Amino acid sequence: MNPKVGTLPALPNYIGGERVVSSSVRRLVVTKPTTGEGIAEVPLSSAAELDDAVARAQRAQVDWGNTGVKDRVQVLFRLKALMEAQVDQLARVITEENGKTLPESRGSILRAIECLEFASSFPQLTPGPLLEVSPGVECRSIRSPLGVTAGITPFNFPMMVPLWMAPNSIASGNAFILKPSEQTPMSSLELARLFEEAGLPPGIFSVVHGDREVVEAMCDHPGIAAIGFVGSTTVAKAVYSRGCGNHKRVRALGGAKNHLVVVPDADPEMTASNVIASVTGCAGQRCMAASVLVAVGDVEPIIERIRSGMAKVVAGRDIGPMISAAARDRVYEYLDRAGEKVVLDGRRQVDAGVPAGGFFCGPSIIDHASPDDAWSCDEIFGPVLTIVRCNNLEEAIAIENGSPYGNAAAIYTSSGGVAERFVQGASAGMVGVNVGVPVPREPFAFGGWNDSSFGDGDLTGESAIEFWTRSKKVTGKWTQSGAQNWMS
Ligand code: NAD
Repeated sequence: MNPKVGTLPALPNYIGGERVVSSSVRRLVVTKPTTGEGIAEVPLSSAAELDDAVARAQRAQVDWGNTGVKDRVQVLFRLKALMEAQVDQLARVITEENGKTLPESRGSILRAIECLEFASSFPQLTPGPLLEVSPGVECRSIRSPLGVTAGITPFNFPMMVPLWMAPNSIASGNAFILKPSEQTPMSSLELARLFEEAGLPPGIFSVVHGDREVVEAMCDHPGIAAIGFVGSTTVAKAVYSRGCGNHKRVRALGGAKNHLVVVPDADPEMTASNVIASVTGCAGQRCMAASVLVAVGDVEPIIERIRSGMAKVVAGRDIGPMISAAARDRVYEYLDRAGEKVVLDGRRQVDAGVPAGGFFCGPSIIDHASPDDAWSCDEIFGPVLTIVRCNNLEEAIAIENGSPYGNAAAIYTSSGGVAERFVQGASAGMVGVNVGVPVPREPFAFGGWNDSSFGDGDLTGESAIEFWTRSKKVTGKWTQSGAQNWMS
């Protein structure tokens, strides 16, 4: 039973290198998804508390921005070593508050470490160009920090998504204020501890917990120069509009509805195991998860393998719970509405031994769906696969293109020509060929298209260097020549 607010210890904010008790009277209970028990309380900070964090970050950023990039990234090297040494301990915190399995938590940390490796390479990646533009006159471009920056992150990868942003921003010479999901706030305090142990000066990494109030205050705050956002499309759009309206840089990644296309020449075993992993991993709560299977022509044997394979996946044994009772009940609502089209019902695939209060839900399949059905269009964000059938590859591409989202899409085929036609035709920022979770690894950038992303470019990879810095163009003349021209 979920305890009432006021009965559990409240988590602190992390401001100016100190753990600060929030003055806010608004709090939420953080629940452990495997049992439904309350494990902590998270303060919903006020705009005034954000103001304090920004003021302290601004003071700290002056020296940090003047520190050379080679020195700045030393902190990230130390952070990487600390994370590698503590990976099991960190994974336990993620699993406690998010519910994903320990191997999934560990995997997300290893992926986050790759982001640290990328940011640690900034001395090699960021030297600007230099050109003698006329005799004795040189133009060069240098990258300057923006000042104080912010990141707003979702519940589903509470350590990895903050590390898509913080290392790149901090290596660029900025201070970074994280507003983590109020559903998974504990991992962010682990990050604060690790940054501290790695020797980051106080005020360069901060954590301000909260909800809409503090997010809106971030969008409005004149002391914040740039915001990275990752979450649902509705909030991504709102943050993008409000932040840009206040002349900030905003890059906002939103929700997804990822289509996986299966054609008759696909390898049955590999395709089935890959699709099952994509649908069920992290209980379907990944923005890269398979959501719609587009079956081209007769692929019944592959569909049957997927169905029978998913029927063996049991929540509580093979996959973790969903984040909350509300998230699980939302899946149930779609299954109720889909009625007889439900050919595999995850409500029956929960291990008998799971705690009664846990938010477990096994994998489901809704078959013979129309591309216009709600379960074909809406982001359900749970372990649910909708199957839509069509006659040929062009129809499949049209179905994928019809989605307003554009995060990921994948094709399963043994034909290079078919794969290439799909790669060219898919309206998605991240495309897989025989890969159901086509996450681009560093240095390739992570980011979708359409309603899955607002703002130009991507959040990680090379785009990140552009996003977290501003360029300064310097024109210098050192010649002693008396020759004069219009540049003199
Ligand atoms: P969410 O949009 O509910 O929350 C994300 C962040 O926004 C949180 O920090 C939350 O506190 C804040 N927030 C929530 N409602 C707000 C409001 N009305 N005004 C201002 N701020 C608000 O997302 P979530 O449920 O935490 O995460 C799941 C979503 O994130 C899914 O849609 C998933 O696809 C998406 N996601 C996308 C990516 C990507 O790279 N595109 C990656 C991970 C997750």
